[in-house]
Amino acid sequence: MRRKLAAGNWKMNGTTAALSEIDAMKAALTPGVDVLICPPATLIAQAAAMSGGIAIGGQDCHAKDSGAHTGDLSAAMLQDAGARYVITGHSERRSDHAESDADVAAKTLAAWNAGLMAVVCIGETLQERESGDTLDVIGRQLAGSIPDGATASTTVIAYEPVWAIGTGKVPTPDLIAEVHDFMRAELTGRFGAEVADGFSLLYGGSVKASNAEEIFAVSNVDGALVGGASLKAADFTPIISALAASAD
Ligand code: PEP
Repeated sequence: MRRKLAAGNWKMNGTTAALSEIDAMKAALTPGVDVLICPPATLIAQAAAMSGGIAIGGQDCHAKDSGAHTGDLSAAMLQDAGARYVITGHSERRSDHAESDADVAAKTLAAWNAGLMAVVCIGETLQERESGDTLDVIGRQLAGSIPDGATASTTVIAYEPVWAIGTGKVPTPDLIAEVHDFMRAELTGRFGAEVADGFSLLYGGSVKASNAEEIFAVSNVDGALVGGASLKAADFTPIISALAASAD
């Protein structure tokens, strides 16, 4: 059975005062759902020390282990600080830092080498969707961003349409199903059915308490990567509960 994952990406939000939100989220922990919060790197060590059963992750890592890369963090540093996961290839990294699929694959490999689970993000822009290129883009990003040898114990994949992130716009369940079913089929073609069936596939983009149940009912959706609605326990805990209540 695939793991269900409710993952929160705090982006560049949160100082020590925000740790109380992680504390409050513990009340929603339930055996059938893994919960992950990716706070800013400045909070990882403190968050990991008090997060109980909530896993803590980084939002990005460098592809190299160490060296002259001012301001960057290696996957091993995140692991040493208490992270168990790291997001790679978030669309804001791809656009703000010109990260290519090859960069994302290199970061994902670095994550595995440090013992971190990678949450690899892919997704089309509005222009790509409107040009009818969504599945081509998803196929290309999947192939280019996920290194050979990926398995469910090292890798989670998040489909995040760029136009749905932070906009309040959410694809219809049919559109989400089309992409998630396509991802599962592509993964099956590459890794074989047994391995491909194990990958947890997350949807991300304006997930909130009010739409979580509908999204979690979509085929091949095993959880969510949540930005804005993961910052407050009051917003995130109903999403965790909706995932717990969804059919396997
Ligand atoms: C994200 O940052 O990955 C995200 C999905 O953000 P939001 O939930 O705010 O759209």
